[in-house]
Parts: sequence; C-alpha cells; structure tokens
Amino acid sequence: YDSLNGKVALITGGGSGIGKASAVFLAKQGVKVCLVDLKEKSAEETKAAIEDNKGEASIVEADVSKPKELEVAFKETVNQYGRLDIVFANAGINGTVAPIEDLQPEEWDETLTTNLKSTFLTCKYAIPYLKENGGSIIITSSINGNRVFSSFGMSAYSSSKAAQVAFGKMAALELANYRIRVNIICPGAIKTHIGENTFPKKDKLEKIKIPVEYPEGSHPLEHHSGNAEQVASLVSFLASDASSHITGTELFIDGAESLL
Ligand code: NAD
Repeated sequence: YDSLNGKVALITGGGSGIGKASAVFLAKQGVKVCLVDLKEKSAEETKAAIEDNKGEASIVEADVSKPKELEVAFKETVNQYGRLDIVFANAGINGTVAPIEDLQPEEWDETLTTNLKSTFLTCKYAIPYLKENGGSIIITSSINGNRVFSSFGMSAYSSSKAAQVAFGKMAALELANYRIRVNIICPGAIKTHIGENTFPKKDKLEKIKIPVEYPEGSHPLEHHSGNAEQVASLVSFLASDASSHITGTELFIDGAESLL
C-alpha cells in the first residue's frame, strides 16, 4: 500500500511469528519499525531480515506487562523516528494449559497480564503520540474465546483473548475523535513458535477432554494451519489507508477453522 510509505510502527512480539512476519511485510512497504520483544536476540533476527530488504528497524527489549518498560519503548521510538502511526499490540503467550481446578491463581495472572493488561498498556502509552496525526492500532486476539471454546485447559488464554476484543471496541469508540482506528484480528492456528511457551499439565487434561469428531488442526480451506505471512497481509491492510473506514471490528483469519 502506497499510504504506508514513510509511516512509523511499533510492534510488540516483533521477534517471532506473526509479529515478525508483519514487521518484515510493513518494512517492505516503507514503514520504519520498532520491534519490542522480551527476547532481544529474536528481535535482532527480525531486524536483520528487514535490513536485508533495505528496510529500517530498531529494537527495544521490553516486557509488555511492565508499564515503565513499555512507556520507554514508545518514547525511544518517537525520539528516533519523530512520529508514530501504527501500533501492533501482538505479543502474547499460551501460558499454562490446565483444567480450571488445577490452574493456579498466579498462572491465571501471568496469562491475563501478558495478553490483556499488555494490550491496555500498549494502547495507553501509544495514544499521546497517535493523537498528533491519527493512526491505526491492531490487536492480536484469537478465535479462542470468541468463536472457539474447545481448546481444553485454555480458560485463562481464551478469557484474555475475549477481553481483548471488548477492550479494542471500547478503544475504537473512545479514540474515533482523534482519527485513531482500532481493530482486532482473530487468527486460527498459525505456524509460529507460540507452542514453545505452552505449559500443558497433560495428565490433568485427559480427564476434561471431550472427543471431537474432526481431526485437530483441520482447516476447511487449506487442510493445514495458516502461516504468519497470511496474517501479516491482513495487518498491513488494517495499518494502511485502504481500511480507512474500518474501526472497532474483529476480523477472523482462520480458513474457516472456527466454523467447524
Ligand atoms: P510467537 O511465540 O512466535 O511470538 C510471540 C512473541 O512475543 C515472541 O517473540 C515472544 O518473545 C514475545 N513475547 C512474549 N511475551 C512477551 C512479553 N511479556 N513482553 C514482550 N514480548 C513478549 O507467537 P505468535 O503465534 O506469533 O503469537 C503472536 C500473537 O498471536 C499472540 O498474541 C497469540 O496469542 C496470537 N495468536 C496466535 C495463534 C497461533 O496459532 N500461533 C493463533 C491465534 C492468536
């Protein structure tokens, strides 16, 4: 999209998966990207991929659940690039996967803080800068908690993902006067590294599973999981002026997985 050229984006979770693919795709269209991630080494790989394509990127190592660290990330981005137009609130974890009776309160808190509180914090600290020229905020939720409730043991994850949609809609309305659009994307299963941050209590999970008739991970459209580049294409559309009349909506990107 031509409208993306010269814009500035901050992407949380930019070191891997959906965040990485989106950063690379936006940079190819002339967006300067600040990559915010817990893991600086992964963010370095994204930065190198962007620079290989003659794009521009910087890195802030930060934990999105920590207000001070995020606030600094926004300050550094605007100090470096002089403005902010696009914010991708995308970092997230699966967290502990366990039946409700076995899930510990601190495990619940970790998932809700990393996925939901971080979304609030990312928007909060972005607003003062986005207000200047208007902008686009994109939030990564999931089909889980919104259309799908069969991911056994993921009550904390699904709750965080459902609440992100409500929060995004509230934000869209609240920020409309500033010409800041807010949209929520709900991917189905996408091949990324997120499974490596999943801690299933496997023995406990067996007792709550209800057998489903279709094979896990089956997708009507492509018969396999989606990939991060397909999600990046939606993120780029929502970041660009091509979606100038779209705000406060959730978009499912799942090859009809959630309709089974
Ligand atoms: P991923 O693990 O490949 O990438 C996530 C990135 O976020 C990693 O680089 C990780 O270091 C970073 N991160 C995690 N916690 C962080 C924190 N506290 N502070 C800063 N950075 C942190 O996973 P992904 O699949 O690309 O996930 C991105 C988003 O997509 C998540 O919100 C996830 O819930 C959502 N999602 C993923 C899928 C899927 O199937 N992969 C489906 C639906 C939604």
